[in-house]
Formats: sequence, structure tokens, C-alpha cells
Amino acid sequence: MVQIDRPRVVPQSIDRTDRHLILGAGFVGLGMAQALQAAGIAYDQVDASDQIGGNWYHGVYQTAHIISSKKVTQFTHFPMPEDYPDFPSAAQMRDYLNAFADRFDLRSAIELNRTVSEVRPIENNHWQVTFADGEQRIYKGVLLCNGHHWDKRFPQFQGEFKGEMIHSKDYKHPDQLRGKRVLVIGGGNSACDIAAEAARVGAKSVLSLRESVWFLPKTFAGSPITDLIQGWMPESLQRLLAYGIVRLTFGRHEDYGLAQPTYRIFEKHPTLNNEVPYYIQHGRIQPKPAIRQLSGDQVEFVDESCEAFDLIVCATGFYVSYPFLPPALQRTEGAIVQCYGGSFLDDYRGIYYIGWGQARGGVGSLISAYGPFFARCLKLQDEINVPIGLVLKEMGQALPQTHLSDPHAIFRQLKVSNWGFGWLKRKAHQVDRHYPNFQNLPLLSTHDPHLVH
Ligand SMILES: Cc1cc2nc3c(=O)[nH]c(=O)nc-3n(C[C@H](O)[C@H](O)[C@H](O)COP(=O)(O)OP(=O)(O)OC[C@H]3O[C@@H](n4cnc5c(N)ncnc54)[C@H](O)[C@@H]3O)c2cc1C
Repeated sequence: MVQIDRPRVVPQSIDRTDRHLILGAGFVGLGMAQALQAAGIAYDQVDASDQIGGNWYHGVYQTAHIISSKKVTQFTHFPMPEDYPDFPSAAQMRDYLNAFADRFDLRSAIELNRTVSEVRPIENNHWQVTFADGEQRIYKGVLLCNGHHWDKRFPQFQGEFKGEMIHSKDYKHPDQLRGKRVLVIGGGNSACDIAAEAARVGAKSVLSLRESVWFLPKTFAGSPITDLIQGWMPESLQRLLAYGIVRLTFGRHEDYGLAQPTYRIFEKHPTLNNEVPYYIQHGRIQPKPAIRQLSGDQVEFVDESCEAFDLIVCATGFYVSYPFLPPALQRTEGAIVQCYGGSFLDDYRGIYYIGWGQARGGVGSLISAYGPFFARCLKLQDEINVPIGLVLKEMGQALPQTHLSDPHAIFRQLKVSNWGFGWLKRKAHQVDRHYPNFQNLPLLSTHDPHLVH
């Protein structure tokens, strides 16, 4: 009997090459969806979760309030409700994002419970997207809006702790702290919120700071400080204003038993928190230096003090991660994605890294400004073969040096870029003529050999 080899069954890819895919329907993904919709650019949108809203639906603790004000955090073209406070809660943020999706009729393009497991470039400058259930689709391009507050970064410790140790991402409700001796590690916004909550409901709250941080008050003279900083102020003046506000509100670090920070305000993502200085002065939060080692329920600090804890919360940040991309498209160095113009690669067209930066302001006003510019770039990308990132590079743009930014500087840059878009367009066509044979380099699947063409 003759054996006939059956052809291997390769999953049929669904052709969506007339459109882009927006990966993620959190704050950024929703904002970008609306920008594409307004520009008449076709797209699909997916999210792994069962509801839209990202972090504000499933990622933050129940008691979280934004630290940037309502004014800078809302989408400029969709203000938050009048009756919202200056610093809305997580639930209000979630409701606001849902209202945004309804107002702009974004839901019909969103598929929920759709986890993307792989995105890879294939021939003809197309992108193959594979979902967790095995479905495959081919897109013109993919906007990566998967957020950067989910891939937990844990510190390394000597010794073992026999109590409970969690990441700030796993902290959801004050009951997790109630009656416990809590040690919070970190000096960022989540660390401060959790240490303050532990001061209210825990048996003890200790905040371990590897290095001293600048605490900025959330408000000054009745106004959110993010609203006091004006667009015309150069960063040096913003810094001067911030130093003045800190000094007038809190005084000196030594008044709290803290060392003077060794960096200048804004050289790190700012910690906006009134409660930690307040609770330190009430003896409800005890600041401590870095941890030397763990042993049983004991934690030894580098100042040789030693204390017992039930719970350690590591509020030690996150990695910026794109687990669904092949190694060649892993462009993150530290917290910085090596791309031009905030999103664009110089060697691949059709893949866009969006929302990975840490601007000092709120996310909504930034996306409101960036979305329309990005949409113009997408339209321009359709006119040329080379990646927009290559055009920006050839125009002399440098790769980013930091993930931190002054939102007002971004607003100014975007204004200039929009104003000079005609020039960018001419330059893009010039660069395009220099590289008539540009093609994305197809990459093999890193997950499943059956997916390889
Ligand atoms: C405690 C805390 C306080 C904050 N306070 C502020 C503040 O005051 N002001 C401010 O502007 N920002 C604040 N942020 C930052 C916050 O992350 C942003 O406001 C905003 O949520 C970022 O939106 P995003 O869409 O980039 O990410 P996310 O909100 O994380 O949304 C990303 C979405 O992508 C989806 N996704 C991820 N991977 C996949 C996949 N493989 N397949 C399909 N879907 C996927 C996720 O399900 C998620 O819905 C805070 C963050 C935290 C944690």
C-alpha cells in the first residue's frame, strides 16, 4: 500500500490587510482608536480583558485616585464630568473611559477576551497576528497599546522571608493590609499610597526607600500642582516652582528623618503624595533605608535596624514588555523603547509602540495631542514604502535618551510637527526615493513551528 503524506494543516489566516489592529483597549488604545476613527483610518481593536479601560478597570487598587489632575488627565476633546473631583477615583476613571467609548461609538470595533500571543512581520510588509485561541489574521500594521504597568519588577533579596510578599500590582484592597505589620518597598506613587493605607488600617507601616525621593504635594494653594505648571514655562522654571512648592508645603527632608535626595526634581518620575510626609509626622509611617537581608519574619535594613513584618509589598515598578513580539522587535532598553517620534521604527513599517513613556502630566491630554499627529503619519505611511521612523531618522531625529518627559515640551513639539507636516511629507517622499527596494524583513514565528510559512 502506498503511503501518501498528508499536507500539514496550516491555520488559515484571515485577511485584514485593509486595516490596522489596535492591541489593547485601555486609556491609550481607546484614545488612539478615536484618533484613527476621526481620520477615517480603518482598524480593529482587541483586548485580553473582559471589559475596556485597562488599568482603570482591572489594574489598580480599589482606593486609587489619579495623581495627575482631572484637567490634564482627561482627553482634551472629551472633558470629565463637571461633578468629578480634581483627582477622580479608579471607578470614576473606568466610568469615564466607558463614556468615552460610547460617545465616539468605539465599542463596535472592539473585541474583548482576545489575547494576542504573537505579532510578527511576514511578506509584503504585512503583519501576522496570532491569538491565544490559535486564530490568525493578517493586518497592514499593529498599534501596540498594551500598557506598561503589568510586568512586575521584583527586587532581589538575601535570605528568605516567611511572611507574605506581594507586588504592588497584587494589592487591590485595604483588607489585604488590615491589622498587619506592613513593609512597603519603593518611593513611587503606588508605594506611597499603599504605605499611607497601611498607616490607616495596618498594625504598622514602614516605608523602605533605597534612596530618598522628592515628595511633591498633589495641590498647592488649592490647585492641583499639575495645573499650576503652564505651557510657556521652560523646564528650569517648572523645576524652580516645584522646589518652592515642596519647601513651602513640607519644609526640609531632615524634618522627616529623611536624607536630602541626590537627584534634581523631575530627573525621576515625580512622587506626588501628601500623605506620607503627614503620616511620618504622626508616627504612623516609619521611613527606613534599603533592606540588607531577610530572615524568617525579620527584615534587616542597611542601618542595621531589624523589624518583624507580616507582609512585604514590593512597589518596585514594572518592565516595559512586549511578550508577543519576536526578539528582533524587542527594542526596549531599560524603560526606553528605541523608536523615533514616540512610536516608529526605522527598519520596520507597520509596527507602532505607543504609550510606553512616562510623561509628568496625565495620559489623556497627551493622547489627545499625539493621536491626530500619529494618524497623519499613518496616512503618510500609506503613501511611501519606507518606514516613517526612517524618515524621522534621516531628518536628524535622535533615539530617545529617557522615558521621562515634560508634557508641555511634547505639546510644543507636536504643534511644530503638525505645522511643518507638509515639509515632513516632502522629506518622506525624498527618503522613499532613496530606498526604492525597502521591504520589511519577514521573521519566523518564535512560538509554534506550524505557523512558519
Ligand atoms: C496606581 C496607578 C496610578 C496611576 N495614576 C495615573 C495618573 O494619575 N495619571 C495618569 O495619566 N496615569 C496614571 N497611571 C498610569 C496608567 O497606566 C495610565 O493612566 C493608563 O492606564 C495607561 O493606559 P494604557 O492603555 O497604556 O495601558 P493599560 O491601561 O494597562 O491598558 C492596556 C490594555 O492592553 C491589554 N493587553 C495587554 N496585553 C494584551 C495582549 N497580549 N492581548 C490583548 N490585549 C492586551 C490589557 O488587557 C489592557 O486592557 C497610573 C497607574 C497606576 C498603576
